[in-house]
Amino acid sequence: MSSWPEPDRMFEEPLRVLRENSVSLDDAGNWPSESLDVLGEAGVLGWVVPREYGGSEYSGAQLVEGYLQLSRACLPTTFVLTQRNAACQRFALSENESLKADLLPQLVGAGRFATVGISHLTTSRQHLSKPTLSVSIEGTQLVLDGMVPWVTGAGQADWVLTGGTCADGAQVLVALPMDAEGITVMPAQDLLALDSSRTASIRLESVSLDSAMLVAGPINEVMQTGGRGGTGSLGTSALALGAASQSLDRLAGEAVDRPELGEILDPLTVERDDVVRDLLAAAGEMAESQLPELTNESLRQRSNSLVLRAAQAYLAASKGAGFTGSHAASRAVRESMFFLVWSCPQAVIEANLREFAGMTDGPSC
Ligand SMILES: Cc1cc2nc3c(=O)[nH]c(=O)nc-3n(C[C@H](O)[C@H](O)[C@H](O)COP(=O)(O)OP(=O)(O)OC[C@H]3O[C@@H](n4cnc5c(N)ncnc54)[C@H](O)[C@@H]3O)c2cc1C
Repeated sequence: MSSWPEPDRMFEEPLRVLRENSVSLDDAGNWPSESLDVLGEAGVLGWVVPREYGGSEYSGAQLVEGYLQLSRACLPTTFVLTQRNAACQRFALSENESLKADLLPQLVGAGRFATVGISHLTTSRQHLSKPTLSVSIEGTQLVLDGMVPWVTGAGQADWVLTGGTCADGAQVLVALPMDAEGITVMPAQDLLALDSSRTASIRLESVSLDSAMLVAGPINEVMQTGGRGGTGSLGTSALALGAASQSLDRLAGEAVDRPELGEILDPLTVERDDVVRDLLAAAGEMAESQLPELTNESLRQRSNSLVLRAAQAYLAASKGAGFTGSHAASRAVRESMFFLVWSCPQAVIEANLREFAGMTDGPSC
């Protein structure tokens, strides 16, 4: 029996809209505003917001289930949602009660948008000796200078959850209001896929913020203070498995008239069900010590491997027609590549590289 969670009936209409809009979202000219509006109406934008601020405060397992459903319908919209949710989750964790009371109720609906620019504190530019974004604390003011290299929906955002490094090495996280003086949103990057995410860099020149916008810190390694979310979290694996499932759905469509494709589809589907079962177990209430082998990294490695192979199987089955730019198979292959670089811990990158090198006996993460 499949381990794929059944979508709630109330959720069928939003999923239908996301599926329908997904084709137009392979284009930098389009931002998923209609899909985000529909998610707002369905209460999805409040999933990670605590109840006291008007949200529904989903558990880890509920969130993973939701991401599985949404990303199977539309990866670009779900990816944008995860960046928004990452900002909301960090706001919710903050000890700055007045900031939470101000921002979180505004982020339950689609009227305001928040996103994250934190990769320079986790996975990006880590080999450079100088911090990408420096912070000096002058009385009650924080002064920020430098670049935030990756910000999805930067031009759409009211606030960006970002952070920088002080001269003594301590780090802060702030809710950066995008109308603050000294902020320049650079032109959105030209990407291999997910162009509608409008991912861009932000330049900050002597941006002065009141400490009322402080989310966390100053503290060493501020990103280590965030619990189970963060780089390579279970949510990122859910997106990879949702994208893999979309490829398998389309491969199943090809197999209707070509039963010989069944011998390819079946083992990929069994593998998908295995990883989904383990992902849901890891996201559930069971203590981490009871599932020592189901680490975030090992689940992301398995999800990455599957999303790449499922997309390529669908392309191969679609033949030359699938190689044309507008075909769903070429898009699935491009989108699958995203998981090699997005929110990918070093251990997962190394495991992916070993798989490419045919080192299947190498240590797994
Ligand atoms: C579409 C997309 C959207 C994203 N959205 C967001 C977002 O909204 N928020 C967010 O915080 N992050 C986001 N990210 C960032 C993402 O999570 C990763 O942090 C990012 O992909 C890491 O890549 P990088 O090129 O910045 O890494 P880097 O490590 O900075 O690598 C850049 C280059 O440096 C060189 N290099 C790398 N390592 C070394 C080394 N050890 N020694 C010498 N040279 C080296 C290589 O030539 C490499 O190409 C996004 C990424 C993508 C692709």
